[in-house]
Amino acid sequence: QKETIPDRKTVQSKKPSEPAVFIPVDRSAEVQEARLKLPVLAEEQVIMEAVRENPFVVICGETGSGKTTQVPQFLYEAGYATGSRIIGITEPRRVAAVSMSHRVAKEMNLPTQVVSYQIRYEGNVTGDTKIKFMTDGVLLKEIQKDFLLQRYSVIIIDEAHERSVYTDILIGLLSRIVPLRNKKGMPMKLLIMSATLRVEDFTENQKLFRTPPPVIKVDARQFPVTVHFNKRTPLEDYTGEAFHKTCKIHRMLPPGGILVFLTGQAEVHSLCRRLRKAFPFRKGSTAAAEEEEADTAEAMRKFKKAKQKKNVSLPRIDLDNYSALPVDEGDEDREAGIGDEEDGGSDLELGDNPADLEDKADPSIPLYVLPLYSLLAPEQQAKVFRPPPPGTRLCVIATNVAETSLTIPGIKYVVDCGRVKKRFYDRVTGVSSFKVTWTSQASANQRAGRAGRTEAGHCYRLYSSAVFGDFSQFSEAEITRRPVEDLVLQMKDLNIDKVVNFPFPTTPSTEALIAAEELLVSLGALEEPSRSGRMKDLQRAKLSCPISALGRAMASFPVAPRYAKMLALGKQQDCLPYIIAVVSAMTVREIFEDLDRPARSDDESSKLNQRRARLAQMRRLWAGQGASLLLGDLMVMLGAVGACEFAGCTPKFCEENGLRYKAVVEIRKLRGQLTNAVNAVCPDVGVFVDPKMTPPTEHQVVCLRQIVLAGLGDHLARRIQAEDMLDPKWKNAYKTPLMDDPVFIHPNSALFKTLPEFVVYQEIMETSKMYMRGVSAVQPEWVPQLLPQYCHFGPPLDSPVPWFCSSTGTIRCHRSSTFFRVGWQLPAVEM
Ligand code: ADP
Ligand code: MG
Repeated sequence: QKETIPDRKTVQSKKPSEPAVFIPVDRSAEVQEARLKLPVLAEEQVIMEAVRENPFVVICGETGSGKTTQVPQFLYEAGYATGSRIIGITEPRRVAAVSMSHRVAKEMNLPTQVVSYQIRYEGNVTGDTKIKFMTDGVLLKEIQKDFLLQRYSVIIIDEAHERSVYTDILIGLLSRIVPLRNKKGMPMKLLIMSATLRVEDFTENQKLFRTPPPVIKVDARQFPVTVHFNKRTPLEDYTGEAFHKTCKIHRMLPPGGILVFLTGQAEVHSLCRRLRKAFPFRKGSTAAAEEEEADTAEAMRKFKKAKQKKNVSLPRIDLDNYSALPVDEGDEDREAGIGDEEDGGSDLELGDNPADLEDKADPSIPLYVLPLYSLLAPEQQAKVFRPPPPGTRLCVIATNVAETSLTIPGIKYVVDCGRVKKRFYDRVTGVSSFKVTWTSQASANQRAGRAGRTEAGHCYRLYSSAVFGDFSQFSEAEITRRPVEDLVLQMKDLNIDKVVNFPFPTTPSTEALIAAEELLVSLGALEEPSRSGRMKDLQRAKLSCPISALGRAMASFPVAPRYAKMLALGKQQDCLPYIIAVVSAMTVREIFEDLDRPARSDDESSKLNQRRARLAQMRRLWAGQGASLLLGDLMVMLGAVGACEFAGCTPKFCEENGLRYKAVVEIRKLRGQLTNAVNAVCPDVGVFVDPKMTPPTEHQVVCLRQIVLAGLGDHLARRIQAEDMLDPKWKNAYKTPLMDDPVFIHPNSALFKTLPEFVVYQEIMETSKMYMRGVSAVQPEWVPQLLPQYCHFGPPLDSPVPWFCSSTGTIRCHRSSTFFRVGWQLPAVEM
């Protein structure tokens, strides 16, 4: 079949409307030479012919075969970016979007104004952009603004094998958008690129594509990789095992880079440290000179001093007073709130093994050890692409970011622990936890493949072949493993009311879709289904509730629905700047250094306890006292953000105060972005981000707590009462409506000693116990007032005697109330 494809110069399009064009690109000789080695180049004609002939095309090719860097260039050369049209490529990982746009710009010898990227917080897209790399969430948001994506002549969905939720949704949406565009005479193409051959979910899915799209396989020019299994049943201590294996490789085997796959950041650091100690490497004086001066104490004092003391009656927020949406155009900067990569931050560290010392390494050749994980600073990440210093061997310790999105040059040996860290959600309770599990056979083979890029290589699997045989063949699509309320809201905002009918490549469970609709109804984002119908109709109605005005306002904020509701309510009592700061801090992962983390070096170890005590004290200071303390962990976040901004957001301030600099930078960007979004939604409010935010008044703190309750209403917990204390271990424990097991306030929480009767929490993480994270105290009387949808109300009470309210023209009375799911007695409420 391949032979019948004519040479590029003689290719003539069959359709006169699409003349064959060729836009020249001026590549350097060096780039040209490197390109010629890439297998995808041999398929250029086949790919371009298929794209011309078909609206949908699937390309499968081994990682490193050149899909991401070359296919956009083919399209560019074939004239898909002429006039005002542009080529869009989506990536599930931010790291990939940024790094690939730089690489392609360099290869094409074009400035970044032309080959650009856009990720959640930043981008360099201009009016001259022709090739745009972006995260999948960014494109999803663009579809909300312009359903037909009129600027794009072609969309490439990259890394489709990762099956990220946004990628799946995009494929479903584009399966409809592309035919619509073609019908309207504005041709558009969709390319789906995958690193594995497993594409049946896309190609064989009648709901998606009526005729299966052509699949082009790029023959990998892969060198053979010898796979070595461990004989023994796998150990618990795979980090230790990885250490020994790496030492052995380095001491005994010929030159060539080593890539070690572990599951999380802490493991990566622990192994880096052990290897650096075993094979020392002196870099000379690269001590990072931090110039910025941040006077911690000063910043804190000013932040605190500005606190006003006022005693006024408690204010109350009004649930119906939210930002209403002028439906026309949104803000240019709006983007989706994108999920993060799965190598989670807070993981358990395996202790250092004293057996290290027995492994007497020959330190004559230094090992150049580099960590690689998604939360690593970008300049650190970029190091893996550069050649190691002469006379050293490169050794990259990575999480699964190195599996398919980034190809590290010069790797000959792969050490694979066979595990992956995944976030698991309990569908009913919403409890999430990071768990280390076995990876899939497909992933393990991907990892092995990294060793055969430049020459024949070896992969050492730290598990037996029997265990490998038990791995699942492929990884599950993410959409089947996580809550979908944000997706459902986004889809409703696209007027896709019947979400069950959406052409998902893999449909989420009906259970998950119903849970999402229920949450959105209880948040007021969807119209409540009429309760008059029969049960069966109600079930169906539940899955097709239309979006409400509040829901539209919420959908315009690039954060999860619970937080979007807080933003929508935040315009009251001038709370918006604070709510924006709190929501930003809550959606950025791991803003605080983990106080419980183990030491990264012996040196640190001795000082760590001291540091822990100091940081804990700093957090107590941020939490404040009295009224503000009741905002709990969210007040700590607010205090941290305020103090850090006051000090100019320097790395030094962060380091000294136990904040993650990268998180702080993200929070700052998100604050700006959310401020723009709020201004677009309700221009009358006119918020602006004041970096030097003054602390909230007591009055405002009360409102903030109420707004938080309105958003996190389904995360209410009540302290277990003495009479219900069935187990002494339940001392100070809390009960939630949906879980049998008790949950706890973490010792590091601001409210650990306060133990209010009612709290709301951001999420529950299961570590040694079920711990609530992001805890804030709730006044019992707010529950019936602000969460009537969760309460049961009794008949009118005799006392106080019902009265006529002339302003509303109704009879008012008090009613008793209970939290209906669990029957908690709540204060009577005026209605
Ligand atoms: P695929 O998408 O098929 O996995 P890529 O297009 O990402 O393949 O990679 C093709 C080649 O480009 C690989 O050999 C890779 O090492 C190289 N490459 C990608 N990014 C860079 C970079 N920033 N610097 C040097 N080489 C790079
Ligand atoms: Mg790629």
